[in-house]
Amino acid sequence: MTQPIFLIGARGCGKTTVGQKLAGACHFDFIDTDVTLQERAQQSIADIVAKEGWPAFRALETQTLQSVTAAQSVIATGGGVILAPANREFLRDNGIVFYLKAPVAVLAGRLEAFPEESQRPTLTGKPISEEVREILAQRDALYRETAHFTVDAACEPDDVVAQILAAIASVHP
Ligand code: ADP
Ligand code: MG
Repeated sequence: MTQPIFLIGARGCGKTTVGQKLAGACHFDFIDTDVTLQERAQQSIADIVAKEGWPAFRALETQTLQSVTAAQSVIATGGGVILAPANREFLRDNGIVFYLKAPVAVLAGRLEAFPEESQRPTLTGKPISEEVREILAQRDALYRETAHFTVDAACEPDDVVAQILAAIASVHP
């Protein structure tokens, strides 16, 4: 199995954490589209959004996603990548897509514990748990329709990796 593995889900679901471990286990490269985008733009996502707006950021995100997609790669995506229909189609058509699904309380707890890793500007200015609830209400169906597999991301990172490896083994025995 050499197909790209895409990880999707809300901020804090563990795309970066799980993605690095999964890549290690598969001997694949690990790519984080948010990190690549910021390196190429030489500025933070917060600065890009502040200066150029969300649509400009979303366009860069699509470009980054497509350009980093390669065989033998685990690709962690930004939480909002599934908002664009073209991105959803691209993900499904170009690799195996995993939705790392976790309850609102788990996501909010992680984001509150590690605020420095929430690089995205807040979308609404509301308390974190309320914002996470609203975002998931808008996006959960899109994550599910884009993913080939949904995994429980509330457990330990190693267990999330094990679920993903088991799903891959079920389709590529
Ligand atoms: P994402 O890339 O999806 O935004 P991260 O991998 O950056 O999420 O994880 C956000 C925070 O939650 C980090 O501090 C990370 O250490 C922690 N974390 C991620 N996955 C888990 C997990 N399965 N169990 C406990 N904490 C986790
Ligand atoms: Mg991340």
